[in-house]
Amino acid sequence: MALRRGRIPVGTGGLWRRIRRIGRAAEPAPPPPERLPGHAAAALRGSVQVRHVDAGSCNGCEVEIGSAFGPVYDADRYGARLVASPRHADVLAVTGPVTRNMEVALRRTHEAVPTPNLVVAIGDCARNCGAFADAYGVVGAVGDVIGVDVEVAGCPPRPEDIVAALRSVTGR
Ligand code: SF4
Repeated sequence: MALRRGRIPVGTGGLWRRIRRIGRAAEPAPPPPERLPGHAAAALRGSVQVRHVDAGSCNGCEVEIGSAFGPVYDADRYGARLVASPRHADVLAVTGPVTRNMEVALRRTHEAVPTPNLVVAIGDCARNCGAFADAYGVVGAVGDVIGVDVEVAGCPPRPEDIVAALRSVTGR
């Protein structure tokens, strides 16, 4: 049975009518960024599976990651896809400063990702602890715990910049 929101049916027929009326929601693709150098990036060219780890974020970066993979910025069209397990991943996308409670979990998650792999530090907290520098529960930036290959600046970072960082890996 078709569900109804207000007076607009959102069952299959209503959904198709909406899609036809609204058209494509994705932003036009900007020119591809410079490709990341190195062996791992060369091996991962084309498509990457991304496992996200929140090492102590305020959740602002997660909102922007959600946008980066949503219908407007649509990171999937450039070959980046979120996965649920580090064992299925090529890229670890880490947000937040690394808190004491997450240090071991982050190291173990990184160890579980098959090689070759890359680490993307998303947001100022991941890069340099940002607003949480010197907080009692913070061990350090992501680079103090595991190696970082790509950084995305901003507090929070823009979805376009998150997508650009992933495109620098996929080359698309
Ligand atoms: S960079 Fe900003 S938005 Fe991201 S976790 Fe830190 S404080 Fe939150």
